[in-house]
Amino acid sequence: MKFKLIAEYFDKLEKISSRIQLTSLLSDLFKNTDKNTISKVVYIIQGRLWPDFAGMPEIGMGEKFLIKSIAMAFSKKEEEIEKIYKRIGDLGEVAYTLKNESKSSNILSFINNTTHDSELEVEEVYEDLVKIATSSGEGSRDVKIRTFAGILRKATPLEAKYLVRFVEGRLRLGIGDATVLDALAITFGGSTEYRPIVERAYNLRADLGEIAKIIDAYGIEKLKTISPTPGIPIRPMLAERLADPAEIMEKVNGNALVDYKYDGERAQIHKKGEDIYIFSRRMENITNQYIDVVDYVKKFINGDNFIIEGEIVPIDPESGEMRPFQELMHRRRKNDIYQAINEYPVSLFLFDLMLLNGQDYTTRPLLDRRAALESIIKENDKVRIASHIMVNDVNKLKEYFYQAVADGAEGVMIKSVSPDSVYKAGSRGWLWIKLKRDYQSEMADTVDLVVVGAFYGKGKRGGKFSSLLMAAYNPEKDVFETVCKVASGFSDQELDELQKKIEQLKRDEKHPRVISNMSPDVWVSPAIVAEIIGAEITISPLHTCCKNDKAGLSIRFPRFVRWRDDKSPEDATTNQEIMEMYSRQLKKIEDKPVDENI
Ligand code: ATP
Repeated sequence: MKFKLIAEYFDKLEKISSRIQLTSLLSDLFKNTDKNTISKVVYIIQGRLWPDFAGMPEIGMGEKFLIKSIAMAFSKKEEEIEKIYKRIGDLGEVAYTLKNESKSSNILSFINNTTHDSELEVEEVYEDLVKIATSSGEGSRDVKIRTFAGILRKATPLEAKYLVRFVEGRLRLGIGDATVLDALAITFGGSTEYRPIVERAYNLRADLGEIAKIIDAYGIEKLKTISPTPGIPIRPMLAERLADPAEIMEKVNGNALVDYKYDGERAQIHKKGEDIYIFSRRMENITNQYIDVVDYVKKFINGDNFIIEGEIVPIDPESGEMRPFQELMHRRRKNDIYQAINEYPVSLFLFDLMLLNGQDYTTRPLLDRRAALESIIKENDKVRIASHIMVNDVNKLKEYFYQAVADGAEGVMIKSVSPDSVYKAGSRGWLWIKLKRDYQSEMADTVDLVVVGAFYGKGKRGGKFSSLLMAAYNPEKDVFETVCKVASGFSDQELDELQKKIEQLKRDEKHPRVISNMSPDVWVSPAIVAEIIGAEITISPLHTCCKNDKAGLSIRFPRFVRWRDDKSPEDATTNQEIMEMYSRQLKKIEDKPVDENI
């Protein structure tokens, strides 16, 4: 398959903002894709070479290297490239312009071997990009620059533009996972009616490239037989939230297993033979951060083929008490990881099992899964099952909640034990309900929102970004709808971090997946998630979340709590959840005795 085809589709996709057109064009591209190339095409569309969980290096060619590469490809001085870059402001466009110019100079194209009917094959480009991503150590800088210059020489102007954007990590086509799922359903099933089949498979094996490969090779029906496989993460099951214990007990039909809700890092642990992998909430490979946990799994959990889930929590080695989850940040260090392990020890609290000895447990009720989990663990200080009890009345639930909070937990997780209490991968539902200690504030819970725009500050904060336009995720439309503008709660350090984050993601125009009535000073590609708390959810004509003809929903007095690097934009709070929070808030007001309302 020619890379030219991909570049031509990228050019069309970039100009489209309607999701329906986006999906149909993408489906067109899939129809024109060779069987053995489809997984690579899927990854490239998403701006990567492999799924995040593969734990492989990102391509990571910064501006400096790229300028060197472009200079080498076009036999120009770096200063010349920098000059054009300053004028155009986009290295992809720089490569495009230079290619077009060299087209008119036959002698130059002869010397540079720049033939404009490119023969670049996707496989060949992919191999070179892998070489760039994986070369490390001495001499790797030259390998990266030369290899990329080599591809550029052979590329057409359009190919050069998108190749540069790809290696720069700026290929922002506005295509999320949901759009790829729809496009696969249309291509191989004929319509989006097949989306649930594709989605189910993706929930159990969160690798879009792999799913595309299977569907292309064996047809859509084959997806129905897919089960979890160690080494490929499962999309996590998520909980609904409620603040009223009586309402919670109703939701679970009066009977539930109640776990402590630990405040740490969610960990999905896979074991395949001798190999152990740990995946985060957003399905990134975090095994290297927790080699101590890998050791505990080897020692204290029997079996060599399983997928289990739990929370990794920092623990004070002296007292055995839980410590703030922020301590886990130290585990992100690339160097000195052993020192971080010594200074910030952790324990693992397990709460689910999804696969054991090749048997898919996601379709079994909770108590079966827990029994299987208990059967393989040798409990001790380092690895244990989450503290839990069976509850069948409201008072017992309240008591256990207070005990959990007193023990340093964040609250409790109430889990249905009905026969249909399966592990619902990738979905948020009433089978699990969270009850947290911070549900005392008027807004019952924090929300996780995506940064889609930024405003410059005035006075002391002049010239720097000081407030952010935040959006919720609408999974049905695969877009981000604005909810509020947040300006408070940032520490000086967080504000500095903010400048760096925004610089990398800012853009002149609104991202095609953002729906907004407001115009911030700069638009930001949806990539960063922040936790926000506020006084209450209110109706606002300014915002587009849950918008009808007149107004949408907003957050009054929003305040920044922390960055949520463990969440991708699609993991943000949804428009539906904001709507539910709003309805509950109304209900709370209606439920108040009359005199309290005056
Ligand atoms: P969510 O994961 O629901 O989007 P979130 O990441 O903002 O929300 P919370 O609202 O605090 O986190 O609650 C869910 C998280 O609680 C889970 O993702 C998991 O990491 C954690 N957790 C702690 N203890 C348990 C438990 N016993 N059972 C399930 N999850 C638990």
